[in-house]
Amino acid sequence: MNQHAFYEFLHKQIVLMIGLSLGPGIAYILLGWMNGVVDKALVWYFLMLLCSVLGWRLYTQFNIHTMSSDAIQKWYLKLRLFYYGIFLLWVLIFIFYCNETESNLHYIAIFTEIGAAVVASTLLVSDKKLFIPVLLLMMIPLIIYFALIGSWYGYILSIFSLIFLGVLIYSSQTTYNLLQENYYQAQHDILTGLFNRRYFVSYLEQMNNGLQITKGCAYILLIDLDHFKSINDSLGHGVGDKVLKSVAKRIIEFCGDSHLVARLGGDEFIIASEKFDDMTYCKNNAISFSENLLEMMKKPYEIENHRLYISASIGVNYISHKLPQTKDFIKEADIAMYEAKAQGRDGIIIFNDMLAKKVEYHLEIERLLYIAMEEREIELYFQPQFGKDGQVLGCEVLTRWYSAKFGYIPPSEFIAIAEKTGLIIELGNSVIEEAFKTFMLWHGKGLKLEQFSINISLRQFFHNTFIEDVKTLVDKYLDYELKHKIVFELTETLLVKDFNRIVDIMKELKNLGISISMDDFGTGYSSLSYLRQLPIDELKIDRSFVSRIGESASDEVMIKTILAMANIFNLKIVAEGVETKEQYQFLTDNHCDMFQGYYFSKPLTESKFEEVYFSLK
Ligand code: C2E
Ligand code: CA
Ligand code: CA
Repeated sequence: MNQHAFYEFLHKQIVLMIGLSLGPGIAYILLGWMNGVVDKALVWYFLMLLCSVLGWRLYTQFNIHTMSSDAIQKWYLKLRLFYYGIFLLWVLIFIFYCNETESNLHYIAIFTEIGAAVVASTLLVSDKKLFIPVLLLMMIPLIIYFALIGSWYGYILSIFSLIFLGVLIYSSQTTYNLLQENYYQAQHDILTGLFNRRYFVSYLEQMNNGLQITKGCAYILLIDLDHFKSINDSLGHGVGDKVLKSVAKRIIEFCGDSHLVARLGGDEFIIASEKFDDMTYCKNNAISFSENLLEMMKKPYEIENHRLYISASIGVNYISHKLPQTKDFIKEADIAMYEAKAQGRDGIIIFNDMLAKKVEYHLEIERLLYIAMEEREIELYFQPQFGKDGQVLGCEVLTRWYSAKFGYIPPSEFIAIAEKTGLIIELGNSVIEEAFKTFMLWHGKGLKLEQFSINISLRQFFHNTFIEDVKTLVDKYLDYELKHKIVFELTETLLVKDFNRIVDIMKELKNLGISISMDDFGTGYSSLSYLRQLPIDELKIDRSFVSRIGESASDEVMIKTILAMANIFNLKIVAEGVETKEQYQFLTDNHCDMFQGYYFSKPLTESKFEEVYFSLK
């Protein structure tokens, strides 16, 4: 048993026990003095003082946050000796006084013994190894004493004492069981029976304390199941729970006794290794262990007639005496795990300095992004879109951020960060507002475009005030004609979310007059059946396909298929990232409607766009 609460409980009782012994102890000296046995009482009190000093030292030595688990074990052994000792002294005073029948001191002795037994059963209740021996130690002398009186009332008192001992043990045992249950629940995850986060954190803290002393090292693995949410969403939480249980069972069987396994919550598990003396050995062990673990976890799961294949992303972090911050160990393993997810899941990443720097950089970007928004450092650029005959039909609005500290920061970077922090709602709204303003201005100046495309991020799309915000801006800036030229570009990754909700939001946008384009088409999960059910107007063939025209036959087939599909569903199609004449040729040959890319133009500033395309109109 290695529980904080358990040791802390026993720790607290030391002072109480010392108080209860030294305080009333004085009365025993007084009684001894009055009845002529003061020398015995003084010897006894002196022993009690010695024992109390020992107890006090144990009390002050104890610090759960800085002691290693080995140190705590040693402390606990001494503590047990202290408790045995102090109760033994109470037996001693009983033995001293129980023969003093003439001065009636034997009554005091009997009461002392019963009282001490009650105290023992209360104070030591959290530890079976303590309260059972101590209760026996206190009560057996009393039982014998009564039996030795030799008369019928002596035998009856002896039997009563025996019953009393039984009651005390029974009640202590019942409380003990309740406490155990409580401890168990406080430390375990109910679903899987593994340890919980709280326990793991304290375990790690103590392991780390130990490593600081022994100069050893260890590692932790943070495991997150890949796409667990889709199991929950598609097969229900009942199946989800069973999956978690099976995964937990597999991990625990794989780990055996050498590792400690806990569930952090959701589909996240964490493992702490045993201790190693040598860092190189520890590192090698961490890698081979996590590779084998991942392989084992990926074997199919048979749950309620479903055969499920589940992979996981694992973040590894080392713990050594050089890095003493416990809370960061888990956080860093988490960062490594996220990196494994970002690199395509189903993999193992070890936390390193580069990752730490990346996180720092992201935090800094996050901070600067707030300032950039306030100071309007983020500008809009416009990349023209062309028709078959080379005429400008529309444009896509793209954000540009030149930060004073880092220079140009690509939108792929800061948009992702804004998404994570939620800042995208504000940023996205201001992009829409600025874009609408520009579109209205251009239209007023006579630069008439067929369409005007704005990128919308996932989090923005699903935000509960999205439609309301868009409507306010539409009403403020756009007339009937203009609002029917607005296109919102959404990426395919959208489709992993609740389908009905997506359709509802899209329909509301359509009611406002706004068209919908499926961006980066072909890279994600879209299927024909999805497309048919969504009220979309346009597909954008992803740059990755266009860039391999002339190089990869399969990409060419993909483009042809997308174009044919768009035809069937009567969708407009824009090829993005057209960089060469050859690509353009291939696309026109296959009946593509619109083109966007460096072959025609890079994204331009507002004034540059005006300058170039006013002259053409
Ligand atoms: P996207 O929507 O796929 O935008 C097209 C990206 O391709 C743009 O990169 C554009 O500059 C680039 N591009 C266009 N033609 C060519 C070409 O011929 N060759 C090459 N190599 N690249 C070309 P950019 O501006 O860096 O934007 C990257 C992504 O950032 C965008 O991808 C979009 O997903 C996101 N993004 C940009 N602005 C916004 C915004 O205002 N809101 C949201 N939510 N996302 C935005
Ligand atoms: Ca786009
Ligand atoms: Ca795109």
